[in-house]
Amino acid sequence: MNPLTHFRRTKIIFTLGPATESEEMLEALIRAGADVARLNMAHARHDWTRAVIRRIREVSKRVGREIAIMMDIKGPEIRTGDVAAPMELTAGEIFDFTVKPGADRENGEEVRSVNVNYQDLVNDIKVGDTVLVDNGLIRLEVLKKDNAHIRCRVLIPGELKSRRHINLPGVKVNLPSFTEKDRGDTQVGIEEGIDFVALSFVREAKDIELLRDYLVTHKSRAKIIAKIEDQTAIENLDEIIEATDSLMVARGDLGIECPFEDLPVIQRRAVKSCFDHGKPVIIATHMLESMITQPMPTRAEITDVANAVYEKADCVMLSGETTIGKYPLECVNILDKISRRIEDEGPFDFAEPEHVGGDKIKLLQSGVLLAHQVADSALLTFTRQGFMAGGLAALRPSRAPIFAMTNSVETLRQLRLLRSVEPFFLPLDSDPNDTIEHAIALLVKAGRVHPGDKLIVATDLLTRDRLVDSVQLRTVR
Ligand code: PEP
Repeated sequence: MNPLTHFRRTKIIFTLGPATESEEMLEALIRAGADVARLNMAHARHDWTRAVIRRIREVSKRVGREIAIMMDIKGPEIRTGDVAAPMELTAGEIFDFTVKPGADRENGEEVRSVNVNYQDLVNDIKVGDTVLVDNGLIRLEVLKKDNAHIRCRVLIPGELKSRRHINLPGVKVNLPSFTEKDRGDTQVGIEEGIDFVALSFVREAKDIELLRDYLVTHKSRAKIIAKIEDQTAIENLDEIIEATDSLMVARGDLGIECPFEDLPVIQRRAVKSCFDHGKPVIIATHMLESMITQPMPTRAEITDVANAVYEKADCVMLSGETTIGKYPLECVNILDKISRRIEDEGPFDFAEPEHVGGDKIKLLQSGVLLAHQVADSALLTFTRQGFMAGGLAALRPSRAPIFAMTNSVETLRQLRLLRSVEPFFLPLDSDPNDTIEHAIALLVKAGRVHPGDKLIVATDLLTRDRLVDSVQLRTVR
């Protein structure tokens, strides 16, 4: 099989948890081709976070394949408080959410209730609104409210346990977008050198700027992933995509906050808009959900993954499948297999993003056009901060791999997120021709190219005193 045509373009993100935190499992996942490890800070203590980040780095070094680490911070999340024992809510029952624990009720009424961690909820919510608890499993309707209690009727019953996530479809919540907890978590991530910060419940571009200011002030090079999870984010989708480094279509919460039948439409629109802005996009949640307990995916899951690959998303993401699932390694192998099969189907083309400009874009477009015309060729570029490789990936050549040589291990890890990009570490020589020769030798040694293979080099390498743009067609000797 020709390694220039048989490789996986779609990247794989797995969420770390009890099922995957051991050295052995991490090694197996990295060897199987997982590209990014995600830490979900809703469930992570700081000592655990530091320990697993260090473990991933150690195992990556041992395996000789550096993967990226994404810290997923919770943003403005509303949760129920602790309950002494799970409560069985029954259909039609009257139930209170209490924002001021211990506050008296009108006429001293006796109604079962649970505390909520957000006092201003009584101001944000209206009579008639819907409250969804525990990923939408329990549904209630708001009947009335005072300054301490929100009185509801249970529409869909279920068991209420401690600290469950609350969704409020269509309600504009006034919680800060980058919370105190998020700052504490991000600080730990920065100290441990994380590569990406994913911000949950992004509602507008300003939310991203807050996080960006924090990262810049703390001298972090981590890139931002905006998680779109509710209707406000969909209303502000374009400004969010412009402001962020990349986007996650967080279908778990989106599917609760928006009418579920809108979800495929939103996914398609988000992917298209990311294309137009040249930004990477991740499709997340329930990709192989049944594999939490079963060794094989459902037919619908196979088709859902295939759809993300057909759409040319940069990444597909695993959550519960790899945190608590019984088959985490199988999940990665199955994503790998589906991606390769669907990518082989084509169409073999490239994109012309509407909003990607800059003085290098013509150079990169020429390279991609040439790679499209020269059968079974590969693109080669050199990239310090990831700009050149990111530009090539934004053009989405659907056949040629993009070999990206970088002298920065941080850049190398961040390139793991980009569709079709295979990053390599290479010290850059002062002579550009030597650098290209060293890169080709490295690719030959790695078994990625063979004598006779064609490489399209798109580069702005530094010559003695200036940057020279060039597109070259080289044959591997
Ligand atoms: C989601 O809602 O799809 C998601 C990825 O977010 P989280 O797992 O943090 O709820």
